[in-house]
Amino acid sequence: MDLFKVGKLYHIGIAVHDALKVAKLYSDVLGLKIEHDETVPDQGVRAIMLSNDKSNSSAIELLEPVVENSSISKFLEKRGEGMHHICYLVEDINVGIKFLEDKNIEMIDRVPREGLNSTIVAFAHPKSLNGVLIELAQKV
Ligand code: ZN
Repeated sequence: MDLFKVGKLYHIGIAVHDALKVAKLYSDVLGLKIEHDETVPDQGVRAIMLSNDKSNSSAIELLEPVVENSSISKFLEKRGEGMHHICYLVEDINVGIKFLEDKNIEMIDRVPREGLNSTIVAFAHPKSLNGVLIELAQKV
């Protein structure tokens, strides 16, 4: 299973009520710039990616619910705004899913699904990973 290569920390997902408002705050305070802004009605989410284009550091993904009963709106109701998940880039997401399952990590997505910003993604269950929701993403 040494085919499974985890790349860099791609982004940290943060659940918020108003992504644009938070994007402006983070731009002012942290000097981040909006890199991508996408609304995906199927997933019930608007996602704004912020990064510091000079440092090549990992991005921040602000997630705002756009419909009721989406996973992000449920998260906000239960836990309020804050860190939602961390995402690692992988070379081959199917190899990544199998690798984690072989290590007894429970996957939320056993089959990759379409992600934001030209990716396919799969989430691992936080109960298998010390309370942290981990997303694997492969660029397509
Ligand atoms: Zn994400």
